[in-house]
Amino acid sequence: PMSHVMNTYARLPVAFTHGEGVWLYDETGKRYLDALSGIAVNTLGYKHPRLVKAIADQAARVLHTSNLYRIPLQEQLSDRIAEAAGMDEVFFCNSGCEANEAAIKLARMFGHKKGIELPHIIVMESAFHGRTMATLSATGNRKAQAGFEPLVQGFIRVPYKDIEAIRKVAEHNHSVAAVMLEMIQGEGGVNVADETFQRELRALCDEKGWLMICDEVQCGMGRTGKWFGWQHAGTKPDVMTLAKGLASGVPIGACVTSGLAKGLFGPGNHGSTFGGNPLACAAGLATFDAIVEDKLMDNAIAVGEAIRKGMAEALAGESGVVDIRGRGLMIGIELDRPCGVLMARAAENGLLLSVTSERVVRLLPALTFTTADAQTLVSMLAPMIRDFLANG
Ligand code: PLP
Repeated sequence: PMSHVMNTYARLPVAFTHGEGVWLYDETGKRYLDALSGIAVNTLGYKHPRLVKAIADQAARVLHTSNLYRIPLQEQLSDRIAEAAGMDEVFFCNSGCEANEAAIKLARMFGHKKGIELPHIIVMESAFHGRTMATLSATGNRKAQAGFEPLVQGFIRVPYKDIEAIRKVAEHNHSVAAVMLEMIQGEGGVNVADETFQRELRALCDEKGWLMICDEVQCGMGRTGKWFGWQHAGTKPDVMTLAKGLASGVPIGACVTSGLAKGLFGPGNHGSTFGGNPLACAAGLATFDAIVEDKLMDNAIAVGEAIRKGMAEALAGESGVVDIRGRGLMIGIELDRPCGVLMARAAENGLLLSVTSERVVRLLPALTFTTADAQTLVSMLAPMIRDFLANG
């Protein structure tokens, strides 16, 4: 072993020393076009002046004070999130799984307050919600769960985007308190829920008095061309979770509530030592400011289209390409065979991407990616995919 770091990731033998815009540089000085941005985290790319300044200024004032005191930057960030979502309250934590843990606890509290003895949450096949025990149990990936049984109870699984399956659960099971899902599944292969399904699900939740919980950890924060993925259909959730891109690389998570979910937690019900500390919130506020001022959501739509169109043209006639899909800068290129090897091959060629769900090349570039970057990306990636399909 190279160090004492636990062996939980199959890492590529590459280490980066610094970044500039959408490029990362390794120890040998080689540069890489970053179409992954730390898995949808580095919203503003590297060395964004506004972000660097906000973090440096805050570090010089105070990093952390604890949630036993008021944190004005946290209050400001809660206002920005609430305003962007049209929602009411924000609980801050440090990661996506923590945000989802908070959402799951909220749903259970909600159920108990309604008199449901053992409240259940409907979750989706191929969902990804995190690695803690409750979020792992909510995740729809048997491989990730294997070896960690007993799982947390209280989840009912249905196929993704299958409103009839959810209606069937509603008929037979009176312990349901909530439905939890990603409007665009990330780890599950960049699967987009159509607007009809979203609207039918919102209507069903209203009819049954269930909370609709949207996990926006990967697709939120402007990546799809709107602040949040559910906004494409205008189906506001009762609970929404955020993390990853919210503070452009500083760890943060958020669980946001409105409607039936508002006011469920009081002092003592939930907490986090680090959650929403001044440093993370300063980075979150700089992220919001930059997205608005640099018009990064419009950019995400335009550049996302350029990438999809460019890839479709460059891969025209390739029968091994099953689908090119996504929204904004959340893009999946599905092949007809497992293609995990492409991640290392791309890195060797100076391009960073990931492969998820075995057969889906996933692109999650920074929202600062330009159309010129999109062309560079296409000219690097398309020949790699063609070569892989022809020669393995
Ligand atoms: N939810 C979604 C949709 C995710 O994509 C992820 C991470 O990939 C998580 C939750 C978990 O986030 P974290 O790794 O910050 O706990």
